[in-house]
Amino acid sequence: MNKEVRNARIKSINGQIKYYENYISKIKFFESDWIDQSFYEDELSSTAYVLNNLRNQKREIERSNENSSPEFCIDCGERISEKRKNAKPWAVMCTDCSSEYERIHQDLAS
Ligand SMILES: [Zn+2]
Repeated sequence: MNKEVRNARIKSINGQIKYYENYISKIKFFESDWIDQSFYEDELSSTAYVLNNLRNQKREIERSNENSSPEFCIDCGERISEKRKNAKPWAVMCTDCSSEYERIHQDLAS
């Protein structure tokens, strides 16, 4: 991976980390409004899991200059398709997980 791709990936991951941190603070803020408490807890723990993976991924990239782009989705563990990796070399999630998270965040923002 060249320096530009690497920096783009770190930038992308930083953006995602910020996004999920913001998301966690939002769901914590609205905790009492959640009717389904177990859904709230699931949401909190899965977001914390994704955040943790993103931080690990960032650490790995920073540690290595020649790190190849990630092969597996940080969320579901499925292999990220070549097509997606070519289009978005910094992608850390598969297409399905990525659109699922975008959907959740759009719901929350609306
Ligand atoms: Zn996935």
